[in-house]
Amino acid sequence: MQCKPPSIYFVTISPVPAKTIAMSKTLFEKIAAREIPATVVYEDDLVLAIQDINPQAPVHALIFPKQPVPRIAEAGPADQKLLGHLLLKAAEVAEKLGLTKDGFRLVINNGPNGGETVPHLHCHILGGRPMQWPPG
Ligand code: 5GP
Repeated sequence: MQCKPPSIYFVTISPVPAKTIAMSKTLFEKIAAREIPATVVYEDDLVLAIQDINPQAPVHALIFPKQPVPRIAEAGPADQKLLGHLLLKAAEVAEKLGLTKDGFRLVINNGPNGGETVPHLHCHILGGRPMQWPPG
């Protein structure tokens, strides 16, 4: 008599390695890792400043923390030092780009109504022309 194949199969599932389920990098993390090219205007251990790819003024740079915070509304007390550093360095970058004498604008867009398109906190540094108020 022929043996019937078993009707129940046991399968061993090994746990997914942590690396496999790690979150994918943001655009700015890829730029910081030099996986995507950009013109760097300032860099230190905590922040990177680059020229914006689609400038909205004669001078348009972006400065962001290398460790991503999605947006300012999601920053917390643990980010206080980093945010202070980001703003102080934004002013330094503005100075380096020749914007201090005539003035400049710093902008942080938050969420859809704020016009945020890259979910990695960044501050725009805009200058080289008079800015309008209120902004569009
Ligand atoms: P947001 O709209 O999120 O406030 O600003 C995102 C900014 O990132 C925009 O001004 C946009 O032009 C800029 N941007 C988007 N992709 C790239 C890129 O690949 N390289 C650089 N340098 N800037 C980018």
